[in-house]
Amino acid sequence: MDGAVLAPPGLRARGAAVTLRDLEKRYGPVGAVAGVSIDIRGGEFLTLLGPSGSGKTTTLMMLAGFETPNAGDIAIDGASVVDLPPHRRNIGMVFQNYALFPHLTVAENIGFPLKQRGVPKAERARLVGEALDLVRLPGYGARYPRQLSGGQQQRVALARAIVFRPRLLLMDEPLGALDKQLREALQIEMRRLHGELGITFVYVTHDQAEALTMSDRIAVMNEGRVAQLGTPEALYDRPASRFVAGFIGETNLLPAVPRGAQDGLGLVEAAGALLRVGSTQPVGPAMLAVRPERLRFAGSPGPGSGPENRLAVTVTEAVFLGESRRYLLAASDGTRLVLKEPAGSGARSHAPGEAAEIVWLAEDGILV
Ligand code: ADP
Ligand code: MG
Repeated sequence: MDGAVLAPPGLRARGAAVTLRDLEKRYGPVGAVAGVSIDIRGGEFLTLLGPSGSGKTTTLMMLAGFETPNAGDIAIDGASVVDLPPHRRNIGMVFQNYALFPHLTVAENIGFPLKQRGVPKAERARLVGEALDLVRLPGYGARYPRQLSGGQQQRVALARAIVFRPRLLLMDEPLGALDKQLREALQIEMRRLHGELGITFVYVTHDQAEALTMSDRIAVMNEGRVAQLGTPEALYDRPASRFVAGFIGETNLLPAVPRGAQDGLGLVEAAGALLRVGSTQPVGPAMLAVRPERLRFAGSPGPGSGPENRLAVTVTEAVFLGESRRYLLAASDGTRLVLKEPAGSGARSHAPGEAAEIVWLAEDGILV
């Protein structure tokens, strides 16, 4: 490998800005990535989120240099890197299967990229120690991977990916093989590490909760394209499409016929009623999207004020989930809705078969 120069010492480095421009990758007739453009800011935690097969890994592999795009460009800090081999891009990478060398100790594993870069032994030891501290595994250097838990192995992989001080770290479903509790603990660790390092993270996952927890911004991918790019809040509150509304969080999607606008709100016919929505844009066939936790039973305490919708429903199912209650409801025309309310809020519970009226703020419903 070439003698790539290490960034100056000190924990925090400046994160690389990355531009993906009209990226395409085809495998024979399969368009794995079909025109992806994303501007990733220096120091940002950006997540590529999407279902299996949506082109996340292929996009990451092109950024890393292990796949060559059929079209488009990739620039790091303004300079195109498409003609650079992976090791010249100076990017750290972590994958789902940690791929540690089983016959090397933890310290040797982490020191490997430094050795490749010709870093002298004493300096190597110092940097490895620092990386072990960063991933909260001080004193583990002499162990072998088989002597570590899955979560610890993944921390070692992470240490190996950052030890040479890359300004960009790519991770492809790194927590995918871990159980839920460990995954959630490591998600918080990732966030902390991102803050401490100050470098750019590009993270791939199919888990929307994970993406919402960690990311500064999320690029939702579908069929090789970016369906929407935005902050977790923006994607949750203002999904731009049915796909995004359905993929991020739970949502009610009601077939809706636009019926014009009134007082700045859209009017639609949905669930057998005339309802108001916060957005007026789509014409033609549409869906009214409203989150289950934004619906409430008439008489339950509501959020701020504003124009509301009211709808007569029948409770078809009630489920107690500990912190919340989840109701399945049917409108008069048979349209099904999900309503979620915090349990123990003092609200009376509703039984299957009961007739009820539900209420929600008009602006909490959007057309997609
Ligand atoms: P994701 O990581 O979002 O699950 P991928 O980027 O791995 O998606 O794959 C996107 C699409 O490209 C899928 O349809 C996949 O089958 C196809 N694909 C990926 N890699 C190859 C390959 N080496 N050869 C042929 N098809 C591939
Ligand atoms: Mg993948």
